[in-house]
Amino acid sequence: MRKRLEALLRQHDGPLTQDLVLEPGRFDLGRVPARLAPDATTSMVCGYCSTGCALTVHLKNGVAVNLTPSRGYPVNRGMACPKGWEALVPLRAADRATTPLMRNARGRLEPIDWDRAMRVFVQRLRRVQERWGPGSVAFLSTGQIVSEEMALLGALAKFGMGMVHGDGNTRQCMATAVTAYKESFGFDAPPYSYRDLEESDVVVLVGSNLCIAHPILWERLQRNRHRPEIVVIDPRKTETANAATAHYAIKPKSDLVFFTGLLNVLIEKGWIDEAFLRAHTAGFAALAAHAAQFPVERVAEATGLGVEQIVALARTIARGRRVSFWWTMGVNQSHEGVRTAQAIINLALCTGNIGRPGTGANSITGQCNAMGSRLWSNTTNLFGGRSFTDERDRADVARILDIPVDKIPAQPSLAYDQILEGILARKIRALWIIGTNPAHSWINQADFHDILGRLDFLVVQDMYSSTETAQHAHLVLPAAAWGEKEGTFINSERRVGVVRPVARAPGQALSDFRIFQLVAESWGCGAMFARWRSPEAVFAMLRELSRGRPCDITGIADYAMLDECGGVQWPHRDDAPSPPESERRLFADGRFFFADGKARLIFEAPRPPPEATDARYPFLLSSGRGSSSQWHTQTRTSKSPVLRRLHPQQIYVEINPADARRLGIAPNDWVRVVSRRAALQARAFVTHAIAAGQVFVPMHYAETNRLTFPAFDPYSRQPAYKACAVAIEKLATQPT
Ligand code: SF4
Repeated sequence: MRKRLEALLRQHDGPLTQDLVLEPGRFDLGRVPARLAPDATTSMVCGYCSTGCALTVHLKNGVAVNLTPSRGYPVNRGMACPKGWEALVPLRAADRATTPLMRNARGRLEPIDWDRAMRVFVQRLRRVQERWGPGSVAFLSTGQIVSEEMALLGALAKFGMGMVHGDGNTRQCMATAVTAYKESFGFDAPPYSYRDLEESDVVVLVGSNLCIAHPILWERLQRNRHRPEIVVIDPRKTETANAATAHYAIKPKSDLVFFTGLLNVLIEKGWIDEAFLRAHTAGFAALAAHAAQFPVERVAEATGLGVEQIVALARTIARGRRVSFWWTMGVNQSHEGVRTAQAIINLALCTGNIGRPGTGANSITGQCNAMGSRLWSNTTNLFGGRSFTDERDRADVARILDIPVDKIPAQPSLAYDQILEGILARKIRALWIIGTNPAHSWINQADFHDILGRLDFLVVQDMYSSTETAQHAHLVLPAAAWGEKEGTFINSERRVGVVRPVARAPGQALSDFRIFQLVAESWGCGAMFARWRSPEAVFAMLRELSRGRPCDITGIADYAMLDECGGVQWPHRDDAPSPPESERRLFADGRFFFADGKARLIFEAPRPPPEATDARYPFLLSSGRGSSSQWHTQTRTSKSPVLRRLHPQQIYVEINPADARRLGIAPNDWVRVVSRRAALQARAFVTHAIAAGQVFVPMHYAETNRLTFPAFDPYSRQPAYKACAVAIEKLATQPT
């Protein structure tokens, strides 16, 4: 096998192959791929968030020394947030995984070579499958790797290795929007382009702290010349709410009531677009009857707003000629996120605010390639938004990929939380985690750590061996990072953009793509993936998988075209004019992705939040992004001294001054935040940004999710991070 692996490792794109002869422990940015000139500049999409800015990397003597935001790119137009400016720094971190690691008899991770790593990987997973069945091994992937890697992993795991269950960390951020769009539009299709932010006269931001979470989109909004009303709907007075023209501080988790009642006002006042509804939607009569149960007085009581405020917002929407609705995690991470997202979609449909410039029901994605994972990860959906349960879809994919159709599972994967339940029930015995750190980010950490401990075998594939999740692994596979490999991302506005290698991965780390190829070879199913020889070869296959689908990208010839065009939004069919218009939106013709072309108006009665406050736990805790300089579990952003200086080093909790006074808490005091599951200690940040009875802790600290309550939206299975009951106590002794 060793010879076969070596041959495979030496077969493809030079730079990563050369890594195998480097000493483990190189921490400098290695020389760049031979195909780039030593003093070249090259542009690539940023590897953090879904905005999808392009960064121009400057090389000197073959080493990436600096970067600047790309001026000509239609997304960021010469801008970047602090994470983007510092994007090269995490590549040099001292705790990069540089060699495979295996846990020894003393419980320590020790270096091994790739040959042994692959033998252990195959033997241990096969042993589990032979004893407990193919479905007893599952994988959890990420929205941080390129589409080509996601596709290879999804095909390898499900078609090659016989796994049935695999999911990704996009379940934590985007599953709700996916389900909402599919049910309402007939396909998971965010309809907008970022230009809509510049063309609206009313911009409604829901559960979105755009200034902090998507700062370049906030900059795009500042370029709007129509003096737009900027309406923020959020329980917190966030930085975005402070800068808005109106802030509606609704009570936590009253959003579904609020949007249903808002629609009722619009209907009662006759401020809806009846012609559009008749021509392009189905289900209005039932929706109107449902909304009528939410008179404005009831909504005022549920949300804590005044009747006049609610009517005023309805009037603002009615008067707007181009109204756009944007939402992020405040909606998605909810026990009823799908129906809340659909209530926002219903507002856009009922007022005819879709398919025109400056309009739309627009979900902003989280991770750099969450959108790629929605189409190409082959986890919950079969490739290209198809269904595993549909016989024709399976036959279609088998034909395009030239694989036996019986290799494609006929059942969909369990969702993330259900995979974890499967581990608890001992039905799933081994797990392969790729590029994500759930031992920090998953809801209710106490349970999660217990669950990891029950696995017979845990493989973690990551660029760092130091993550909380890697510390639990039996086997660590060292992966190349963004900037060390090639492929494509899809950003929030459906723009496919290119990622390029500008540095060599340290030591023996390999691109995820190469690791998946090694696994295929080692597993004995390499022949099935003979055509999957490089990321660009896989991109050509994704093109074919997209043919005739709403996400058709058959008109994108190759990576070079993506470079020349500044990325290309899907769809771009091969019979469409080329190059395509740079910024396009969907549904200009009013046709949605159902056979009758009509969008569905979907609704449901609101449900109470899953964990109520009481006398012992009287505060509602919300979590979210703390600053633009922090990314998720901080595995990368913590490596930059510059970024570290841009946010508080110590965990803090926002508390309202009235609550702080009552509890004798002064600014900066240390307090305990206690939920029914665990407690953490944090500095008190006494601020009017948070309403009385609520507190907020940034999600970037490992302690935060020890507190959160494991509730899930029943349709999207997305965790509800935004509301759990806690108590606050001032520490008797203040740590120095
Ligand atoms: Fe990167 Fe997002 Fe920052 Fe743009 S806004 S530079 S994509 S992290």
